[in-house]
Amino acid sequence: MSTGAPTLALILLAAAVLAWRLGAATRVYQDARARRFPALPRLGYAARALVAPDDYWWGARLERLTAAEQTAILAEAARRLGLRSVANLRCPLCRQEMGKALSISPAGQIVVPRETICPACGFRLDACRHCQHFKPGAQTGGAGPAWGGMALRWETDYTQGACQLHKEMRSVADVCPPQMANKLLEMGLDYVQTPKAIPDSFVPLEDCRAFTLDEEELRRSDIRGVDKRRARLLRLLISNQVTSTL
Ligand SMILES: [Zn+2]
Ligand SMILES: [Zn+2]
Repeated sequence: MSTGAPTLALILLAAAVLAWRLGAATRVYQDARARRFPALPRLGYAARALVAPDDYWWGARLERLTAAEQTAILAEAARRLGLRSVANLRCPLCRQEMGKALSISPAGQIVVPRETICPACGFRLDACRHCQHFKPGAQTGGAGPAWGGMALRWETDYTQGACQLHKEMRSVADVCPPQMANKLLEMGLDYVQTPKAIPDSFVPLEDCRAFTLDEEELRRSDIRGVDKRRARLLRLLISNQVTSTL
């Protein structure tokens, strides 16, 4: 039989994968039992661990850690991030560590407290460029790859743009082509409401209190590790601060 050897290899491989997944599920089951989770949820976590063990280790388990275990996990996570605390971040401009730059909302969303300022260069993390309301400006670049007969390449300019939340009144002469502006002026329309211009996305708009963190934009600023796992660590940090002061 010439197919015997490959078939056997496949069976062995499948058995190895199965043993590995069962091992992960068993570790979850044992830990959940040690942490006194009731039988039904315990089985649920173990079954889920066959495909996604992180759901238990970074989910339900966190709620049952002792204060000392929480402290150790938080210290290790901060060390991996190269920071003193999981709530800190490095300034995207000068790499200085910014303290208490991240927090967590009751709904579990990562938030940036208002006026989180870099102690070294003064950069504000709640600058418009990190906000969900920020709409970057578009620029024509140089000649790019020809597409549809047009040799123009549109490049997104993240240094300036407009706010999708705040509006401002601008003179029609400023925002419309001359012909249209003239028509509107004839109709008695001098001003139109437009999205508020953001001339410099590195600073927040004055008096804006609507900053809403855009994690994608943070990544564009080369700030890594602001993700689901970080959100869980931040929640852990808060419960740890509560339990340590009890
Ligand atoms: Zn800085
Ligand atoms: Zn804003």
